[in-house]
Amino acid sequence: MPASSVAAYAAPSPGAPLEPTTIERRPLRTNDVAIAIHYCGVCHSDVHQVHGDWGDGTFPMVPGHEITGIVTDIGSEVSKHAIGDRVGVGVIVDSCRDCDQCAQNREQYCPHSVETYAAIDPHDGEPTRGGYSTHIVTDEHFVLRIPDAVPLDQAAPLLCAGITTYSPLKHWNAGPGKKVAVLGLGGLGHLAVKIARAMGAEVTVLSRSLRKEDDGRNLGAGHFHATDDPATFEQLAGTFDLIVCTVSTRLDVDAYLSMLAHGGTMVYLGITDEPLDVSVFSLLRDRRSLAGSQIGGMAETQEMLDFCAEHGIGADIEVIDAAKINEAFERVRHGDVRYRFVIDASTF
Ligand code: NAP
Ligand code: ZN
Ligand code: ZN
Repeated sequence: MPASSVAAYAAPSPGAPLEPTTIERRPLRTNDVAIAIHYCGVCHSDVHQVHGDWGDGTFPMVPGHEITGIVTDIGSEVSKHAIGDRVGVGVIVDSCRDCDQCAQNREQYCPHSVETYAAIDPHDGEPTRGGYSTHIVTDEHFVLRIPDAVPLDQAAPLLCAGITTYSPLKHWNAGPGKKVAVLGLGGLGHLAVKIARAMGAEVTVLSRSLRKEDDGRNLGAGHFHATDDPATFEQLAGTFDLIVCTVSTRLDVDAYLSMLAHGGTMVYLGITDEPLDVSVFSLLRDRRSLAGSQIGGMAETQEMLDFCAEHGIGADIEVIDAAKINEAFERVRHGDVRYRFVIDASTF
């Protein structure tokens, strides 16, 4: 396939509304897969990045790293995927394949990993452009197989929100006999509830208010508490083996650590660029840990997709036309989404 011009939505500068544009997709390299995008999820990270929350970024920026679609063409050495396959692309599109992290299938921690958008492709020096677009060309190693049991629209958010929650839940052994709290019921949070429940854990949602209680219980949470009620912290002191934090605002971390049981871990997934205040006493007492986790490797992402298919898990989504993207960003910023916007790429 030669280079091609395709439709996309891009933010021309930090904080500017996204607008329709056209971008070039590269000609197929030998290991590349060309994908007709059907759906792309709207991750809170897209909102952060377009707003320049994490530094300058590269603009114009085409966000989007929760991509699903159908293979339309393959390079001469592609063996994993065939034309017509249902596939997905997540947060990274390259890594060095040579370092210890890559050797351990943790490409997301490779110092040379390349993000799906707002990064520079080391092969041609061009900025990477994400899934708010109709087509993408990606090395087959970073293209996942979407099981038939998961519809492509509900599968899209699994490529970031799904794997970002699956990986720490698995790493910290969420399962039967374990008490897991999910802090923040949004895109990541609602999938964390479904996945932790499917792993067999006892799940509690910690949300700002009780507004989403019915949703939380329908998603599989056995308990639901409001963090705007100080009694919650007293009532749940010393309870959880794992707290999965999906909130991107500054928190009273000590207050949350106090809800951990002996040896428990609070893992940060939500990203704030403000430093955290933590009292060492909160960690010493009961040997607690404060940790972070970032997406997942390619093998683990495939494992998560297969796990979701087996357990009937897809994201709860609101499918939108591409022209609604700026409205969706505003609603994500205000926590007003149940529970993931997904762009229908046929509307570009
Ligand atoms: P989201 O859908 O907006 O959900 C975040 C949730 O945080 C909200 O639903 C809300 O839940 C809670 N929240 C608490 N304080 C809030 C406030 N002041 N305003 C809005 N919401 C507030 O976001 P997401 O897509 O799940 O992403 C969550 C975070 O994870 C983002 O920072 C994102 O960049 C990050 N992320 C990290 C990784 C990683 O690899 N570590 C991967 C993907 C995303 P309640 O209403 O229940 O309180
Ligand atoms: Zn994301
Ligand atoms: Zn590497």
